Amino acid sequence: MASLMEIKEIFCNADAVCFDVDSTVIKEEGIDELAKFCGVGDAVAEMTRRAMGGSVTFKAALTARLGLIRPSWEQVQKLISDHPPHLTPGIRELVSRLHQRGVQVFLISGGFQSIVEHVASQLNIPTANVFANRLKFYFNGEYAGFDETQLTAESGGKGKVIAHLKEQFNFKNVVMIGDGATDMEACPPADCFIGFGGNVIRKQVKEKAKWYITHFDELLKELEER
Ligand SMILES: [Mg+2]
Repeated sequence: MASLMEIKEIFCNADAVCFDVDSTVIKEEGIDELAKFCGVGDAVAEMTRRAMGGSVTFKAALTARLGLIRPSWEQVQKLISDHPPHLTPGIRELVSRLHQRGVQVFLISGGFQSIVEHVASQLNIPTANVFANRLKFYFNGEYAGFDETQLTAESGGKGKVIAHLKEQFNFKNVVMIGDGATDMEACPPADCFIGFGGNVIRKQVKEKAKWYITHFDELLKELEER
């Protein structure tokens, strides 16, 4: 695994930077907010707690939680308009600086496309650079499941998205930034991982990540020094 100095070098020469969304780019966990909004916040939180560290696949855990929430199209739209996610301080400046440097920025999330696209639009990230799960609805707006063929619906999905991006665009230096274990596991194929603990600190990520930050200013500062 790369040393801290090597990771900083890769970050400053990145051709693509991929961000996790929940608890990284935004302060909250999208699925928890959706569950609360649909009146099943406690039940879903309990389900998440039980699944953590268990042997349940990502897809099975998502199926179970969504089966409990059963969000309608209207509820998802209303959540976005009435309770839009809060951007983490410093992310706007960081993404804008990366764009100025000609770096491609991607959002890779186990959360939901419509919510993540809303976040992307605030950061001037094109929709094509968003990888997330897609909810499905019946013609009357009722919940009809999710698209199980998306890479992000699978365990290890974030790494699969990055492998796909490297192949498609021939990126040499891809950075993954996130709070969670699934973000850390996306490296490799990502060339380096930066742990982010500005919203929530996951113990195993903090312990294992060679570069662990709690504010995006630390990354901006690194770019300015070059
Ligand atoms: Mg996260």
